[in-house]
Amino acid sequence: MRIELYAPEHPLYTLGAPSPRSELFFAMITTVVFDLDDTLYDEIDYCRSGFAAVSEHLSHLSDATPPDRVFAVLWKHFTAGNRTRVFNAALDELDVPWDENLINRLVDAYRTHVPTITLPPETRSVLDELRKSHVLALLTDGFLPAQKLKVRALGIEPDFKAIVYTEELGREFWKPSPRGFELLLETLDVAAGETAYVGDNEIKDFIAPNELGFTTIQILHPARLHVGGSDLPNAAARHKIHEIGHLPALLRQL
Ligand SMILES: [Mg+2]
Repeated sequence: MRIELYAPEHPLYTLGAPSPRSELFFAMITTVVFDLDDTLYDEIDYCRSGFAAVSEHLSHLSDATPPDRVFAVLWKHFTAGNRTRVFNAALDELDVPWDENLINRLVDAYRTHVPTITLPPETRSVLDELRKSHVLALLTDGFLPAQKLKVRALGIEPDFKAIVYTEELGREFWKPSPRGFELLLETLDVAAGETAYVGDNEIKDFIAPNELGFTTIQILHPARLHVGGSDLPNAAARHKIHEIGHLPALLRQL
């Protein structure tokens, strides 16, 4: 479906993200591209699942430390805001001697575990509704195979006509690189002006799609991990909603 109207004085015209065609046209949104973490499900559930897997792994290596105790210490450091050295801090507290090799093994256990996460019912119903009227796609940063294992655990692969794992293009193509977005437009043969990107993280999610001319939408889940804003021009999403259930109504207004 491809609908274009010549309507330079239409009130929606001013809401459109800049694109070469927006001076003469505005286009209906035909394609919706989603971010994964903290957009389709709460990422903190994945973190909880990952730390549980690491706890099991470590308790096998160090059988004096029961997994429940390891998990409690890991979770304490994580929820206190430690995002870069959780394992080191927890091992220190547990009096488990560690070296970089052990840390790497735990990081690997975290990234390769089969996650216990489920798709929220609200997300399921939004995807089911939008699939009837839009082409859906996914673009996600992050380490492989973690991202693929998340997609499989959530059971969402069949919802999308295309999925871009930016890691497969190379680390330098993680957001805010435009490469993954450009690849999606080529793959789906759709114009940026007809496409929306739905994400959560103002630091990196919306810069490239804003510059390419996508309509950008931020979902502000209360439990999201990345709550920081950005001063960069073009970093903010054009539209903001507080739950994914509001997305279909917003798309109808655009
Ligand atoms: Mg995200």
